[in-house]
Amino acid sequence: MAVPSADSLLVIRTACAAQTRQVAGALADVVDDGDLIVLAGDLGAGKTCFTQGLGAGLGIDDRITSPTFTLANRYSGRLVLHHLDVYRLDDLSETLDLDLPELLESGVTVIEWGEQIAPVLPGHLTVRLLLGDGDDDRVIRFEAESTSWGHRLGPVAELVGRLDPC
Ligand code: ADP
Ligand code: MG
Repeated sequence: MAVPSADSLLVIRTACAAQTRQVAGALADVVDDGDLIVLAGDLGAGKTCFTQGLGAGLGIDDRITSPTFTLANRYSGRLVLHHLDVYRLDDLSETLDLDLPELLESGVTVIEWGEQIAPVLPGHLTVRLLLGDGDDDRVIRFEAESTSWGHRLGPVAELVGRLDPC
């Protein structure tokens, strides 16, 4: 069986953490209850930083920290934000413990390192953070199997070449 390949919908480059948060803040304007976002990228790429920007955009005042040890954190803003980190999951079957179907019933769910459990995930947007040339440069790639996400990324696309200076 052919595995459907995700299309790259949009690429945006940032030169500091604040710009990455700004990009995520624009995504916050278009997310909705039931959305699932997978954050891909190496340690230190900016997955938690991106989640902080998304949370700020959703009007969440709490400090968003890495859920590496807690596995899942829940925050309330315009929408509920479920913030998961599955770095420590050893086995796909352990994803059952996350109770994803219930999380997806309300709020936006963000999963750091989610790519490793992609086979058991429903439709989602993948945000891939790659290191760029300089220490603080990042390349952020939005990928999805369904084109519907492409239509929703307008506010993010508008930021290409127009991010606030670092
Ligand atoms: P991850 O969750 O992917 O392991 P974090 O978000 O915890 O990564 O850490 C990213 C680190 O990189 C932070 O210290 C952040 O300040 C720094 N950083 C530097 N430049 C950027 C950038 N352009 N985008 C995101 N983070 C950046
Ligand atoms: Mg992290």
